[in-house]
Amino acid sequence: MAWDFETDAGFQQELDWIDDFVREEIEPLDFIIKSPYDIKDPIRAAIIPPLQKVVQERKLWACHLGPDLGGPGYGQVKLALMNEILGRARCASTIFGTQAPDTGNSEILAHFGTDEQKERFLGPLLRNEIVSCYSMTEPQGGADPAVFRTSAVLDGDEWVINGEKWFSSNARYASFLIVMAVTDPENDLVRSQSMFLVPIETPGIEFVRNVGLGYETEQEDHGSHAYLRYNDVRVPAENLLGQRGGGFAVSQVRLGGGRIHHAMRTSGRVQRIFDMMCERALSRNTKGEVLGRKQMVQEMIADSWIEMEMFRLLVLRTAWKIDKLQDYRLVRKDISAVKAAMPSVYRNVASRALQIHGSLGASWEMPFAKEVIESFHMGLADGPTEVHKVQVARRVLDEYVPCDDLFPSTHLPKRRAAAQAKYADVLESHLANL
Ligand SMILES: Cc1cc2nc3c(=O)[nH]c(=O)nc-3n(C[C@H](O)[C@H](O)[C@H](O)COP(=O)(O)OP(=O)(O)OC[C@H]3O[C@@H](n4cnc5c(N)ncnc54)[C@H](O)[C@@H]3O)c2cc1C
Repeated sequence: MAWDFETDAGFQQELDWIDDFVREEIEPLDFIIKSPYDIKDPIRAAIIPPLQKVVQERKLWACHLGPDLGGPGYGQVKLALMNEILGRARCASTIFGTQAPDTGNSEILAHFGTDEQKERFLGPLLRNEIVSCYSMTEPQGGADPAVFRTSAVLDGDEWVINGEKWFSSNARYASFLIVMAVTDPENDLVRSQSMFLVPIETPGIEFVRNVGLGYETEQEDHGSHAYLRYNDVRVPAENLLGQRGGGFAVSQVRLGGGRIHHAMRTSGRVQRIFDMMCERALSRNTKGEVLGRKQMVQEMIADSWIEMEMFRLLVLRTAWKIDKLQDYRLVRKDISAVKAAMPSVYRNVASRALQIHGSLGASWEMPFAKEVIESFHMGLADGPTEVHKVQVARRVLDEYVPCDDLFPSTHLPKRRAAAQAKYADVLESHLANL
């Protein structure tokens, strides 16, 4: 497949506008707003909706969605170019209507939801009047759905959900949860689980605790990844999302988009860290010269730039393939490759930036320790890196066939013999003329 690298001039103007808007209006909010997901926070309520209105008037709201759902339907390449700018600031995605996990959740509601489900859950979610949570991972394991135990049993016209879920991000702020539960244990694994829409006020939802990441403090209750217990949680039969036993199919639609969107934002976030690294390398003197003149520092800068640029191109090429093929299943290898590449680029650049800033870099006065932990977030959420590497390898190997001979098909003596047979006439006449 060929690939065109150009961005059209009209869209570039929009990107320039987004860049200014994020720098001027949104980046400062990282110091003001505790969580862009906390709809009830009065400071958030005063600041974020007016900025969202500006974005909507500019027709840049929810650009991952088509016009039928209130977005411009830009496709993944344009979204990637936008998302890498939005990745610079924590509140930016919310202000542009593209925040995870609501983007993925709205995609599956749009894809699988009934008219009633769309009206009740999707409409308010798309307008960011509410936020949502995706509740799939369980305390005994997230990377292997075969170990999931949360069950849903049909009782008359209600489903009764029982079990525990772990790291259900933003459950504390969410109006509803999308819960994966075992409904048909007798089926094979991929047909054994189903998705449910569970309003947060449903009796029986117990917050065991809110868990935070390593840079957050337990005392301040910053954690937003809930350990949840579902105790006889009853939802009406019509709260099943998609087909009974179709939970895996629903999750694949959700995760395809979500993973590439994370990568796009990560690209921007890493660029920001890199900018800090370069500024410091030019500003700090030691042993008579700036750090940027030391070869080992230069190596860190060069390695970072090369890794970032390779990653960015992989993300953009994957986005472009999604737009062309319009089917996530055909781009799974590429999406898994992006997902597997993302944490190491992020972690490498953040760690080098920390190192170049010395003690200041290790302190809480710079963001690098947090960024290093966040790089692990990217290597775990939506499936650990190892699982994605396995996917890449499997799909790559599907494109090859085994050689049934003892020696490889490319064994040099074999190739030499084949080449000599092909050009036997020329070789023979050349030898005859000697
Ligand atoms: C910040 C953050 C937010 C998250 N938000 C959500 C959310 O909103 N909703 C939700 O449902 N989940 C969420 N998760 C959970 C996430 O999906 C899981 O962490 C992930 O699926 C891994 O599951 P686990 O943590 O139980 O690790 P485990 O399944 O215990 O795996 C541990 C480690 O074992 C290794 N491993 C696992 N499988 C393989 C394999 N096949 N081959 C080789 N090595 C392997 C990997 O190194 C892996 O990290 C979030 C996680 C994080 C960190």
